Amino acid sequence: MEQEVLSHPQEQERLLDWLESEVTGVLDWLSGYSEGESAGVTRLLYSKPWLAAQQGLAGRMTRAGLETTFDEVGNLYGKLQGRQPDVPSIVTGSHIDTVIQGGKYDGAYGIAAGLVALAYLQKRYGKPLRSLEVVSLCEEEGSRFPLAYWGSGNVVGKRSHEQIVTLVDQEGMGFGEAMKACGFGAGSARPALRRDIGAFIETHIEQGGVLESEGLAIGIVDSIAGQRRVRIELVGEANHAGTTPMHLRKDALEGAGLMLHLLRQEAIRRGAPLVATVGKLQVSPNVPNVVPGGVQFTVDARHTDDAQLDSFCSWMRTTFTELAEQRGLSIAFDEWFREGAVPLHAALNSRLERICQEQGIAARHMPSGAGHDAQMFGGHCPTALLFVPSKRGISHSPEEYTSPRELAIGVLVLVELLYNLGYEEGELHA
Ligand SMILES: [Zn+2]
Repeated sequence: MEQEVLSHPQEQERLLDWLESEVTGVLDWLSGYSEGESAGVTRLLYSKPWLAAQQGLAGRMTRAGLETTFDEVGNLYGKLQGRQPDVPSIVTGSHIDTVIQGGKYDGAYGIAAGLVALAYLQKRYGKPLRSLEVVSLCEEEGSRFPLAYWGSGNVVGKRSHEQIVTLVDQEGMGFGEAMKACGFGAGSARPALRRDIGAFIETHIEQGGVLESEGLAIGIVDSIAGQRRVRIELVGEANHAGTTPMHLRKDALEGAGLMLHLLRQEAIRRGAPLVATVGKLQVSPNVPNVVPGGVQFTVDARHTDDAQLDSFCSWMRTTFTELAEQRGLSIAFDEWFREGAVPLHAALNSRLERICQEQGIAARHMPSGAGHDAQMFGGHCPTALLFVPSKRGISHSPEEYTSPRELAIGVLVLVELLYNLGYEEGELHA
């Protein structure tokens, strides 16, 4: 049996230096695959830079000694075949697509980390017992077509070709048509659905400021928050701003203002990890000298506990309905998006915790307020999600930044976990 991956601080330091140069090398190279000359990285699903990036990655995977395959939706796998070919694979990776003018770490980091980790493990230890795979998932962001998690969703059977039939992008290009133009689509390669994944591990930037503010290197995610998005419409009466006395008004904006205020207070009162956001508000007729007759606004609420999230949303309905009635306003709620909270795998998280302790890496457990591919895998196979710090918490922006050393520490933890799962005997999820 091999020794633990690392035994001496000097060896850890040397390995971190190496991982740092490798992972930043892959990330710098990947960020070159971007639409146009504008700042940041724009790599939308089935676009030219997307295809070039996937093909480029396939080349790198092959050169790293991995068996490289695409599935029919364009997810790319690089496999380090294990000595026990019939046991389920350990898969790591993230998404290759970005938002418009995003940063170079979101998604890409999880792929680069997996590629570097597998290359290192293969070089140092040869064939694992269980197969290890890195995946570059084709899509997560929903930034070209109005559907997210196309990559991971297909792997776990939560997305299907029927869902995309009517979907078009901003230019009117059909989802299926765009996929076909890149050489993918039903029957083009092996089906995306997999039942042979023993565990999925995603490394990702935090996209929030908790790790940085606490001076920690690693976040071990216990649960991905559930989400509810509700559209709320208030209807009052538009009227003359000069001739309508205050007590005779049905001012929809005044009602909305109070609702926003109470929503924030109640969210603070209930406390973290609950968050609630009003990100969009439209006033009608939206002119200076007319009492606002109508307001539409959105509420995005998230919590890692679905019951608590539902309780908050029902508080909101009751309170807002009362406030509207008191003002003679009519109110309608439309919950247009609902995603359950996804707990991640406790035993994998214990292993991560132990690895961080052994390596002297400062870590904490935390929830994820943002959605990730890991939430698709969470209901399908044991899944872990690992965060590294994001400078000032900024993401989905060209300003996104994580230092090379922070990136390398995340890869080091991934290497240790993959070694543990892939090379060591014993139960996979004990
Ligand atoms: Zn992401």
